[in-house]
Amino acid sequence: MRTVLLASILHEANSFARRAAPLAHYERQGIFRGAEVSERFRETHTEMGGFLEAADREGWQVVTPIAVPCAPAGPMGAEAFAVFRDTLLQGLREAGQVDGVLLALHGANVAEGEDDPDGAIAQAVRETVGPDVPIMLTLDPHANVSERLAMAVNGLTAYRTHPHTDHKETGLRAAAMLTRVMERGILPSVHLARGYQMRGFDSCRTAPPDGPMQRALTLARGLEGQEPGILEVSIQSGFVLADVWHVGPSVAVTAEGTDPRFRQMAEGLLRFAWDERRNDTVPMISVGEALAQARAVPPGTGPIVIADFGDAPGGGGYGDATALLRGLLDAPFEKDIVFLPLLDPEAVRAARMAGPGARLRLALGGHTAPQHGGGPIEEEYEVLRFSDGRFVHEGPYTAGMIGNFGDSVLLSCRGVRIVVTTFQRNIVDLSQLRIFGIVPEQCGLIALKCMDAFRAAFAPIARSMIACESGGVSSRVQTTLTWEKVRRPIWPLDPEEVVAQAAGYTT
Ligand SMILES: [Zn+2]
Repeated sequence: MRTVLLASILHEANSFARRAAPLAHYERQGIFRGAEVSERFRETHTEMGGFLEAADREGWQVVTPIAVPCAPAGPMGAEAFAVFRDTLLQGLREAGQVDGVLLALHGANVAEGEDDPDGAIAQAVRETVGPDVPIMLTLDPHANVSERLAMAVNGLTAYRTHPHTDHKETGLRAAAMLTRVMERGILPSVHLARGYQMRGFDSCRTAPPDGPMQRALTLARGLEGQEPGILEVSIQSGFVLADVWHVGPSVAVTAEGTDPRFRQMAEGLLRFAWDERRNDTVPMISVGEALAQARAVPPGTGPIVIADFGDAPGGGGYGDATALLRGLLDAPFEKDIVFLPLLDPEAVRAARMAGPGARLRLALGGHTAPQHGGGPIEEEYEVLRFSDGRFVHEGPYTAGMIGNFGDSVLLSCRGVRIVVTTFQRNIVDLSQLRIFGIVPEQCGLIALKCMDAFRAAFAPIARSMIACESGGVSSRVQTTLTWEKVRRPIWPLDPEEVVAQAAGYTT
């Protein structure tokens, strides 16, 4: 019987967010160890769910030292990073000899004191198992892939959807690569190429059928068919809110042998990303423009959905920016408007003291960085109801996983219902409204904090979807950010002709 180690440590870090995420941040969403991992993840739509399904099918004995679900924030705190890494390595050492490793990492983690924690973890696993044990890796396509990460593993594959709905399929794909390698006994390696740009492949959005990412994925599948030695051509758009050397789009060809054509294939796809660099299928508009667009949407069934990309907890936003809420309160124009979530633990506590039905004056939200997306809104709010903030994802985004807003309250002001929470969370699932008694299908307008990922759940019910930026720290218009560690030259920080020349592209 083969023994395979399965582990997942997922974190996407906005390195510009000024607060590091402490161990408690991850404990809120759950850190799973040993037998808890299969209990919690079996039959979930996650990479680990895919790993476990493959293990059952293949009859592997599994070792599951740790699984940490993704809860994007600022950099991972130093203590959390050390605990996760050491728990994984200790489990690996206790297992003795393993026949293979399946790792799920995000690829855009940054930790306090370590710019490349994903690479550090993979390298430590490699040093522990030695050069002959196959390691297969799954990534989020918003990964900034370092050479260290690519060299530490024998194969890597990123999700092929954004919004991401194929976590499990990606886990199964990595497991299939591992099965092949264990059966054939030929260790593949990763041929990595990284571009001269900070963003590309349209942030890997797959919703537009003819968008850059769908076309790149089609090209990748074509390349895989050209050579029997190629196991996978994986495309990563990168995650731009990280001031690290290895930021930006990359292509990773997992193949047997050292044929220079593998790297040329990867570079060819990066040239495609360069040519398409301005093709951004979701243009950003201001909050004011978004509200004007929303007013012009014809009546119909289902809510108008306005997403604030600028304060998206999934992109490291603080989750308490108020500019969009302010716009709605100043001129409510739809019946049944819902805004969620607004991080304000103090307001939740005050509402708890006042009780259901009470009216109280609050300076709501906007405490973390009023200059980024709006300060507190002083108004009288009515307390509608409370929730412990726990929800189970209906899907399609990680169906079956548990999420947690912490102690939460639903407030009302001028006809706008506002979900106020203790922890910041991206809005990706309709269950996040249902726990407050809100029927999302019947809302007139839902304003939420999230980039792109909300579309999987909300597109089927929405009358219209509008994206805007409030100016929070996950805004993509990074005119106010200072970049210190990024390799240069790089687009769009440096003049296009300088970058094109360095890359050897004739424009
Ligand atoms: Zn992602």
